Amino acid sequence: MQDVVILGSGPAGLTAAIYTGRANKSTIVLAGASLGGQTGEIAKLENYPGWAGSGMELIQFMKKQAESFGAKIEFASATDIKFNEDKTFTVICDNGKTIDTKTVILATGAMARRLEIAGAREFFGKGVSYCATCDGFFYSGRDVLVYGGGNAALNDALYLADVAKSVRIVYRKSEFFRAEAVLRDRVAEKENIECIYNTELKSISQKPDSEKLIATTTTGDEIECDGIFVAIGHEANTDYLSESIKRDDMGRIIPESLPKGMFVAGDVHSNIKMQIATAVGTGCSAGMDAIAYLNSKD
Ligand SMILES: Cc1cc2nc3c(=O)[nH]c(=O)nc-3n(C[C@H](O)[C@H](O)[C@H](O)COP(=O)(O)OP(=O)(O)OC[C@H]3O[C@@H](n4cnc5c(N)ncnc54)[C@H](O)[C@@H]3O)c2cc1C
Repeated sequence: MQDVVILGSGPAGLTAAIYTGRANKSTIVLAGASLGGQTGEIAKLENYPGWAGSGMELIQFMKKQAESFGAKIEFASATDIKFNEDKTFTVICDNGKTIDTKTVILATGAMARRLEIAGAREFFGKGVSYCATCDGFFYSGRDVLVYGGGNAALNDALYLADVAKSVRIVYRKSEFFRAEAVLRDRVAEKENIECIYNTELKSISQKPDSEKLIATTTTGDEIECDGIFVAIGHEANTDYLSESIKRDDMGRIIPESLPKGMFVAGDVHSNIKMQIATAVGTGCSAGMDAIAYLNSKD
């Protein structure tokens, strides 16, 4: 019987493992399909305090630190979690293994919903981004397009308006129905934001002999820009969870619905900003909560 099983090897899961391992609680981290999660994808990480390097380098340090305190990293994903009568859990893995544990920390992250149009994959990281706070800085004084019309898109547009020369929000509906009024008002007040409604993108290509991108709409109009920020929603990685655990409209876990002994951290936690700093903060909290829970049982 393990003390702690942590699902996810992003910054939230690895931080939790550093805390639980260091408190001498036997800890297994299920890494999932990718060690480091979304952070592992970041080529140049500039807004995590005290760090200058790639996301994967940071993850490798966190992994080593967690392992130095006895945490074991296993390369498997959870497919189910059983709630046992004695208030313990059994985690079922995709490699056929089952792990009995007294506590579980859910740190399986979330994925930005990907834009599935021609060119979107090709130009990902080369002009197409899913994170304005991460990549906006690279577009200082340039022209960018935000694709989407919810709170995330408007927040991205407002953030980018302070960095970029111009921001065009392209949205498929006639108004920002889904966004909060305060955001709509702020967008309307910004002189360098233009809203293009009733418009969908069909493809992304590069302007010949230039670094500029061309976003082509379904009606054939072409919008020239330096960067395209896609904000069409996030999907939390929670397929392995039962219906009894409540999720918000992004599929993120509402902590109040978790049974005793189960904790949540990082992007999969409802109501936190999706950043490495918050993943680390909530990973620390979840680790400490698991330790306190285990100590209360001893
Ligand atoms: C391209 C990009 C650039 C970004 N740039 C920045 C930046 O500059 N600064 C910043 O602060 N933030 C940035 N972010 C956001 C940041 O990466 C995330 O907020 C952070 O990684 C969240 O950490 P996490 O540990 O909660 O989840 P994740 O990093 O998403 O990790 C989730 C982990 O769970 C695992 N997993 C999933 N399903 C299962 C399962 N069933 N069983 C076991 N494991 C599972 C995955 O394999 C992964 O290891 C960026 C995100 C992206 C996509």
